[in-house]
Amino acid sequence: MRKALVAGNWKMNGTINDVKELTSKIGLAERTDVDIMVAPSFVHMHSVGEILSGTNILLAGQDCSEFDQGAFTGETCADMLSDLGCTHVIVGHSERRQFFGDDNKRVANKARKAEIEGLCPIVCVGETLEERDSGRTIEVIERQLCAVFKMIQNKFIIAYEPVWAIGTGKSATPEMAQEVHQNIRQYSTVHSHLNGSDLRILYGGSVKPDNADELFSMPDIDGGLIGGASLDSESFLKICCSAAKLIN
Ligand code: PEP
Repeated sequence: MRKALVAGNWKMNGTINDVKELTSKIGLAERTDVDIMVAPSFVHMHSVGEILSGTNILLAGQDCSEFDQGAFTGETCADMLSDLGCTHVIVGHSERRQFFGDDNKRVANKARKAEIEGLCPIVCVGETLEERDSGRTIEVIERQLCAVFKMIQNKFIIAYEPVWAIGTGKSATPEMAQEVHQNIRQYSTVHSHLNGSDLRILYGGSVKPDNADELFSMPDIDGGLIGGASLDSESFLKICCSAAKLIN
């Protein structure tokens, strides 16, 4: 059985006070029917971890280095994240791919480093609008996944995030997302050592309280990676309720 998971990606937002307030509100959610996770910026990680200690809310990094500790100015490596209490790390977010040159190989290297340090990678995949319009969605996603399958030995989490849906208010329809999720499961079973039906696959891209129910009612959607709506505790916790109600 795949348990529902809702992860909030806070990106580069907030002052320390904003983030502490948000964390305290989310930390009040005592749910066991859905896994709840937050990914604060690195500078806020320690404070967020302190507030969440003793709760069952999980902590994730937004990215990690493909290198081990050493002379890499500005980087944060996987073992630093695990030292701070993270259990997961997002890799290959489209903003990293788009603005920071993270290609499939680097994303796979990052996922591998995370795995070595005992963190579960959340690997983001997804097509641009141009790729979708030219009928290349599945091909692009399979290439993104294939690179990771070559490097990773254990189970990991996949987040399908169509690039055109991130932060645009334009979500994929539930049917569009379901089609891709189903395909990812099949592809994983055939082209990796993992069983696709065991993989947790999240949908991300303008998930809000008012579209979460219809997205989470799809059989292959196991939860969400939430950007904008995760910065508002009420919206985020409503999305968590939808996941608990409709998945599992
Ligand atoms: C994201 O950045 O992973 C994301 C899904 O953002 P949003 O929910 O704002 O579209």
